[in-house]
Amino acid sequence: MSHATVLVINAGSSTIKYQLVDPTSGEAIAGGLVERIGESNGLVEHRYHGEEHSEELPITDHGHGLREVLRLFDTHGPRLADAHIVAVGHRVVQGGSVFPHPTVVDDDVVEKIRDLIPLAPLHNPGSVRGIEVARELFSDIPHVVVFDTSFFQTMPASAYTYALPKDLAAEHSIRRYGFHGTSHQYVSEQAALLLGRDLTSFNQIVAHLGSGASISAIAGGTAVDTSMGLTPLEGLVMGTRTGDMDPAIVLHLQRAAGLSIDEVNTLLNKESGLKGLCGNNDFREVLAMIEAGNQDAALAFDVYVHRLVKYIGSYMAVLGGLPEVITFTAGVGENNALIRERVADALAGFGVRIDKEANAVRSKEARIVSTPDSTVAVAVIPTNEELAIARQTLALVEA
Ligand code: AMP
Repeated sequence: MSHATVLVINAGSSTIKYQLVDPTSGEAIAGGLVERIGESNGLVEHRYHGEEHSEELPITDHGHGLREVLRLFDTHGPRLADAHIVAVGHRVVQGGSVFPHPTVVDDDVVEKIRDLIPLAPLHNPGSVRGIEVARELFSDIPHVVVFDTSFFQTMPASAYTYALPKDLAAEHSIRRYGFHGTSHQYVSEQAALLLGRDLTSFNQIVAHLGSGASISAIAGGTAVDTSMGLTPLEGLVMGTRTGDMDPAIVLHLQRAAGLSIDEVNTLLNKESGLKGLCGNNDFREVLAMIEAGNQDAALAFDVYVHRLVKYIGSYMAVLGGLPEVITFTAGVGENNALIRERVADALAGFGVRIDKEANAVRSKEARIVSTPDSTVAVAVIPTNEELAIARQTLALVEA
C-alpha cells in the first residue's frame, strides 16, 4: 500500500459499516461491519485478502463497536499503522440545507449535524456517535463528512418545495432533500465516462434500485429532481417502504385502524413496499415466488415497475425531452435484468430498445444494454458509495 488511503465509516443507529479504500486505484483494501449495537447478540464481520472473519459478541455502544473494528484490523490485517490512512470519511444521511459540500469536521460541524437530528431521527444520531468516537480513536488525522443530501441541493425551488403553508414549512425545515446523493453523483459521472461524453453536455436519469430506491433527473451533471423527499420514504416502491401514496392514508390509518404515530411510522418504513405486498423484501425471492406462480409477488413486481416507469416519464418531461441515458444501479438495478427489460419495453413508444442478450449478461462492469438504434442509451453501472466518499474526502484534505 503505497498510496494514501481513506477509512470510510457509515454509522447507523445500530450498525457501523467501514471500508479502507485506496482512492487512487479504487481498491477496497479491507472492510466489514458491526451489527446489532446495544443488543446481546452483536455481530462483527471483517474482510481482508479474500477472507471473511465473523464473530458474535455483545456490543455495548458505538465506541465499543469501533474499538472492535480496530481489534479486527489488528488481528486479521492490514495493520492500520502501515496503511497510510490520511483521513476518515464519514457518510451522513441528512445534511439539510446546511452542507451543500463535503466538509472537514470540527466541533461546530458535529453540533450542526446534531441540530439536524429532528429531520433524520432514525439516521443522524448514529452518525453523530460514529463521528465522535472516530475522532477520539483517530485524533491525529482529519475527518470529513459527506452527505447523502448534498448532490440535490442544486434542485430548483419548484422541485423541492411542498405545497404546504410556507411559514410552517420554513419553521420546520420541510422541503424535499433527496437521498442516495453520493450514489447518484458517482453513477452520473461514470455514465459520462461510459458514453465518452462531457458530463455537462447532456441530460440523464439515474435509477438507484437497492433495498432503498430513488431516481433522479440530472441536467448537465446537476440534479434537477429526485424522488426521495423530506425523508427517504417518498418516491419509488422499495423493499419495505411504501414510496408515494396519498398522505391521507396516514390519517385514515390513525382514525380507522387506531394506529399510533410510531406504529404508522414502522408500518410505512419497515412493513410496506415489496414486503407489504407479497411478504418478501428480497427481490431474488420475489422473482422466485413469481416463477412459482405467486399472484401477490406478480402484482408487487407490476406495482414496482409501474411506479418506476411513471417517474421516468415525468423526468423526461422535467428534462424537456429524452435523456441521453437511463442508468440502473444498486442491488436490484445492477442484477435484475427483468426489471430493466420491463422498464425499457414500457418505454418502447419513445424509441427505447433493450438488447435482450446484452441485458441478460451478468457483469460487475459498467455497460450499455440497449441496441445501437435505441433513442436513449440504457446503462448498468455498479455504484460505489465508499469509493466516492473516499475520493471526495481525499480531494478535500489535499486541497
Ligand atoms: P442494495 O441495497 O443495493 O444492497 O440492494 C439490495 C437488493 O438487491 C435486495 O432486494 C436484493 O434482493 C437485490 N439483489 C441483490 N442481488 C440480486 C440479484 N442477483 N438478483 C436480483 N436482485 C438482487
